[in-house]
Amino acid sequence: MSEYPMYIDGCWCGAASGETFDAINPARGEPFGKIPQGRREDARRAVAAAGAAFDTWRKVPLWERSAMCVKIAEAIDRRRDELADILCTELGKPRHQEALAEASEASTPWRIAAEQAKYFEAHTKPCEDAQKRVLTFWQPRGVVAVMTPWNFPVAIAGEYLPYAIVMGNTVCWTPAPTAAAAANKLMACIDEAGLPPGVINLVTGPGAEVGDELVVHPGTHAVGMTGSPATAKIIASRAGLKPRLFELGGNGPIILLADADPEKIAPSVAAACFFGAGQVCSCAERIFVAENLYSAFCDAMVAQLEHWKYGDPWDENTTLGPLNNPQLVDKVSRHVDDALAKGARLLAGGKRSAGPGFFWEPTILTDFSTDSLINQEETFGPIAPIRSFRSEEEVWQAVGACNLGLVSSVFTRDVDQAWRWAEALNTGMTVVNDWTHFWEHHLPFGGMARNESGVGRIGGRHTLEFMSDLKTIVFNLGDPTTF
Ligand code: NAD
Repeated sequence: MSEYPMYIDGCWCGAASGETFDAINPARGEPFGKIPQGRREDARRAVAAAGAAFDTWRKVPLWERSAMCVKIAEAIDRRRDELADILCTELGKPRHQEALAEASEASTPWRIAAEQAKYFEAHTKPCEDAQKRVLTFWQPRGVVAVMTPWNFPVAIAGEYLPYAIVMGNTVCWTPAPTAAAAANKLMACIDEAGLPPGVINLVTGPGAEVGDELVVHPGTHAVGMTGSPATAKIIASRAGLKPRLFELGGNGPIILLADADPEKIAPSVAAACFFGAGQVCSCAERIFVAENLYSAFCDAMVAQLEHWKYGDPWDENTTLGPLNNPQLVDKVSRHVDDALAKGARLLAGGKRSAGPGFFWEPTILTDFSTDSLINQEETFGPIAPIRSFRSEEEVWQAVGACNLGLVSSVFTRDVDQAWRWAEALNTGMTVVNDWTHFWEHHLPFGGMARNESGVGRIGGRHTLEFMSDLKTIVFNLGDPTTF
């Protein structure tokens, strides 16, 4: 069995206790490696290393920190196949359809952070007092605690780590336990690039212990976390006054207005439901279709199923991987059973696949009720729930029954309608006439204050801002002030 050690203060290491846990291949339901079971003492070691490294790293000129991010990007590109392999093994991502795509894009945020940080200006401020000159500067916050989820272990780490270090912070990073081997492989790229010891530290182990220690430790100064709202609430209650960036769950929706073209749109909506086996925060999750399009759209969605084949993720023809873990299989089953019990109809799929691994059949169901779990919570499985509507009111009522709001899509050819819906939907992003998965690394992404999909914005300069304190320096040209 392969071993996937942690990385603290520039050294590969096991947990201080010597404990390990199994890395599981979800396509087979079998262990393939050993991960150190870190504990609080390991997290503390990482915080000490990051704290010691901060004093030196913050003084490294910005252009050199930027060059280091580019070196890491180059190492990621060199090791692209190795990253794709581990994403296939540990997450079951179809090697050719998904794993390679995530690995190929993994260097992008490192290059964007490297570039954008160099031109991330602060300002001089005019002021009423003619004797004063006021300037603002971005300064690093200190040691940043970063918690990442399992669904995009390499890509999401890239949404935090390069932005943190290019601004002069140091990092203690803990990945979700079911994606710790992939984190180890990304760390190997960072190590290969020659990042000084302590600047990024990787600690594996249970989030409630290792992650919690990173959150509460006085030696960390900001918290960045992508994961579920439930975990974010715990972290918020433990983080005290530390600045936080939370990127959390979503629940669509996608809305097809009466003038949309159902056949043209179905491939895009199916992909928004089934890509990543539905385990993506920006998945469609709920599809509301104007009554006149309903029957044609349902037929077109069922026809799409010929493109979504689950099976061995190494097989070139596989497009749908397994769910990540048995608890998620249970949750998806519960949501589908609940929807059917409350009146939904099954058009296709609807159950866990026979055979080994945690596969779930691509599922299409219709007429889900407003009070069903599928409408009210994030499901995170390959499910396409469709419902027709006659009046806008019906959509607003159903959409409003869920307190998540990350990404929505509206399909229409009517520009006025598109603007109206896009401005009214309570999601951090609305895409007009395309799938919900559109995003590029420099674009702002996140939830809204009136929902539970996140706090703050990730993406390009928005992440640079989160990773910085804005320092104001006032320069007095006159005599000191007296009363
Ligand atoms: P999770 O909430 O279980 O865990 C997220 C991270 O927090 C992990 O690293 C975990 O180890 C850590 N953690 C767990 N308990 C902790 C605690 N008490 N203190 C500190 N850290 C703790 O989430 P998950 O199951 O790994 O990921 C799936 C969720 O992530 C879904 O809800 C999905 O929508 C969301 N997600 C959101 C985005 C986004 O950009 N908004 C992207 C991907 C995934």
